[in-house]
Amino acid sequence: MPLLDFLLPPRCGGCRAVGSWLCERCRSRIRRLEEPLCRRCGAELPSARRDCGCRARLKSLSRLRSAVAYEGPIERAVHRFKYEGWRRLAAPLALLIAERLAVEGVGARWVVSVPLHPERLSQRGFNQAELLAGELRRRLRLGSPAGVLVRTRPTPPQVGQDRKRRFENVAGAFAWRGGAIKAESILLIDDVATTGATLDACASALRAAGSGPVTGVSVARVNV
Ligand SMILES: [Zn+2]
Ligand SMILES: [Zn+2]
Repeated sequence: MPLLDFLLPPRCGGCRAVGSWLCERCRSRIRRLEEPLCRRCGAELPSARRDCGCRARLKSLSRLRSAVAYEGPIERAVHRFKYEGWRRLAAPLALLIAERLAVEGVGARWVVSVPLHPERLSQRGFNQAELLAGELRRRLRLGSPAGVLVRTRPTPPQVGQDRKRRFENVAGAFAWRGGAIKAESILLIDDVATTGATLDACASALRAAGSGPVTGVSVARVNV
């Protein structure tokens, strides 16, 4: 059952300490992504190269940026946010994204979230990516294009799949419902990114509807 967090005092998503949704101690233990990063997909690279070979895989995203590594307190916080209903973690997690975008000088006209399939949405009760997107729209004073990005078929979980299978799982799984999108830039939000396959499949649907460049953005990045 989702935590009725509006009735409870803030509790750290990383360590459960009472007082704030992400305590100072956990904040100090968040691992930032370390240079050199792939200029396109933001993956940590073993040596300074321009990109990691992702150009062949990510066909629709113009780039991908993640705030922090998916480790330690962030891994626990994202898990509580997503699977234990700690919706209030959307604000501190979105703040990590906003800080990273400011450092990188990344901007856009609109913010769109990766959708869940309706069955998954009804099980979970909320779309964690949309909660993050809502926080970012508020914080950055951005809107979203008229229409909605939908997941047209349920897709198997990406966890535990190899890179090739991840791309196959989500290919063609998203569509834009609404009018043509103006050719303006979009920030596409998800909670965690690994290969970028899901974000790229979403970007494909947005581009097909006419959008400008799509930057994938996640709170956390899993190294593969
Ligand atoms: Zn903590
Ligand atoms: Zn790359």
